[in-house]
Amino acid sequence: MREAATALGLAIVERYFTEATRRLERREAVNRPSGHAMRASRTVGKADNPDRTTESDSRQRPEPPRGTLNAMTTAFPPLAIPSAVLKELRVRDDAGHPPRPYPDDEGDAPLRCCLRSSTAGERIALISYAPLRRWAAQTGADPGAYDEQGPVFVHADDCGGPAGGNLGYPWARPGALRVLRRYDRRGHITGGRMLELPDDAQAAFAHALAEAFAEPETAQVHVRAVEYGCYHFRVDRP
Ligand SMILES: [Zn+2]
Repeated sequence: MREAATALGLAIVERYFTEATRRLERREAVNRPSGHAMRASRTVGKADNPDRTTESDSRQRPEPPRGTLNAMTTAFPPLAIPSAVLKELRVRDDAGHPPRPYPDDEGDAPLRCCLRSSTAGERIALISYAPLRRWAAQTGADPGAYDEQGPVFVHADDCGGPAGGNLGYPWARPGALRVLRRYDRRGHITGGRMLELPDDAQAAFAHALAEAFAEPETAQVHVRAVEYGCYHFRVDRP
């Protein structure tokens, strides 16, 4: 009886967490006027009501097409979660839980396995991922207290990873707030900056990453959404 109650409680918590995360991700389709980074807190309040994320807003200022990058951008390609890691995560995530796949009835979930948004009907899962820990396991680095983990959407099954070619930075909607966090070879944070994406979001990413790697100690950069800290992708030193 107690176990059943616990399982039910966990299911409710997971459902709530999934919906809250999706609300955040979807909210980024709401476009804000650029050049108003200090309005972030107001925007979070607005996001609390998912009804405010209107289709008309999205249509007014859609995510610009990817694949129109300049030469500088190609020097800093965004990296999806590695396929070998995904294989393990699809069995047990970095919080120690088996994923619970479900059909995505709404679409537009940002998938870190292939760096694109889902389409309605695809089988996805919300899992916990520890990007720095996984990277350190490959390199022998010791992030120590800098290790962290958080929720990411992935395809429930092998999707083959990102499409080939230079597709640019995903989820680069003008007005979205990003944080670029720099790490050194040990996996220790060495600095970071916030970025409010302007109309030319791709060029802004390229510029910000060039700035980050101009710091000699920067080994990799993690890009996250500002409001909830959701991990988006990693960029390694070229
Ligand atoms: Zn995928």
